[in-house]
Amino acid sequence: MNKNYTCFKKSQWYFENPEVPFDISDIMIGFKIKKKLYSGKSQFQKIEFFDVYYYGRVLALDGIVQTSEKDEFIYHEMLCQVPMFLHKNPKRVLIVGGGDGGSLEEILKHKIEKVWMVEIDKKVIELSQKYLPSISKGAFSDKRAEVVVEDGKEFIKRHEDFFDVIVLDLSDPGGPAKDLISLNFYKRVKKALRKNGMVSIQSGSFTCQPELVRTIFKRVRKIFPSAEIRRAVVPSYQAGEYSFTVGSKANLKKITVKDIERKYKKLKLNLGYYSPEIHFISKILPKYLKEKM
Ligand code: SAM
Repeated sequence: MNKNYTCFKKSQWYFENPEVPFDISDIMIGFKIKKKLYSGKSQFQKIEFFDVYYYGRVLALDGIVQTSEKDEFIYHEMLCQVPMFLHKNPKRVLIVGGGDGGSLEEILKHKIEKVWMVEIDKKVIELSQKYLPSISKGAFSDKRAEVVVEDGKEFIKRHEDFFDVIVLDLSDPGGPAKDLISLNFYKRVKKALRKNGMVSIQSGSFTCQPELVRTIFKRVRKIFPSAEIRRAVVPSYQAGEYSFTVGSKANLKKITVKDIERKYKKLKLNLGYYSPEIHFISKILPKYLKEKM
């Protein structure tokens, strides 16, 4: 018997809340803690920041890991760079959620006019700037960025035919994000988009939340003339295959590898995961996943 197995100290480990919305896996992930930094409650949720040995600094909301220094670039690049490369010339961008600033940082890599980040929980923004500046990398002080503290559901109702790209960087659909996977909300998102506008959604884990992924993709396909789903492994998200759904007013099938390669070469952005190859390969789903969609 491996002695380490019997005598690990639970107090040295952070175990994620197993009650993740739509999660059917009954997998509970533990992270060996290096240092606890902050634990407190806001009006909306429990907020925790801590250092772990493998993933570095981590933000958890209601006990669910939202982002880690080690692999946040995979998640944020897939969520933000795919729509920003698909859209010919995005100028006005809206991020709903994204309080850690990782999506904001990705969007600001592009020559946009303005980006609005609408986050319901002011505390997540303030504490992320204090404990996780390595993720936002100064994006909050960029003059092209406007941070709005509001429920995204209300903010979107006041906009029509206005944005080129909308990024839904929301927590799992329990708590404050509960209603932001509804058909109604996606209809309002479509209304808020300009001609050829598109939405990009973190649509859950293929591995642990297949019903959530299927529901979101089905609703987006119902509302938008064009929709695509991609996958990428974000190791700190229960090590499963994560999904990223795009809904578009433009016909995505008309956008070629050449279009993406040309833009990629021209922009020369500093990216660690996204590339023209990843853009297309990540859309190829194995048979068992295709059948579920
Ligand atoms: N990467 C994470 C994930 O995949 O679960 C998401 C990270 S980001 C921190 C999620 C943010 O969405 C949180 O800061 C949360 O406060 C925010 N949020 C949840 N519901 C919201 C709503 N109705 N309007 C605006 N922001 C919301």
